[in-house]
Amino acid sequence: MYWQRGSSTVFVTGTVTCLHCGYVCGQWAGRAGAPLIAAGLRNTRPPDPTAPICCGRCQGPVFLDGATAVRSTARLQRIARLRRQIAEMDARGPGRAA
Ligand SMILES: [Zn+2]
Repeated sequence: MYWQRGSSTVFVTGTVTCLHCGYVCGQWAGRAGAPLIAAGLRNTRPPDPTAPICCGRCQGPVFLDGATAVRSTARLQRIARLRRQIAEMDARGPGRAA
């Protein structure tokens, strides 16, 4: 993996896309070289976070499209904070009723 430099951990973000039908599953963030598991998906609350991601339309295999390295941990912390906020919004109740 050319993302990895020395022993430091490099994080990447990209778009999880279906290899078969091109369906976009969502934005993914995680460690470079790590398997694409559901826990890394943003805006998603999977029943099993450790399950490998497969296409939501055809169940086909997915790949990380346009993966970019996240070198700044500040950006990663912002992503984590956003995910937490989204989870809190989801926890408030079903639907988008005001
Ligand atoms: Zn598909």
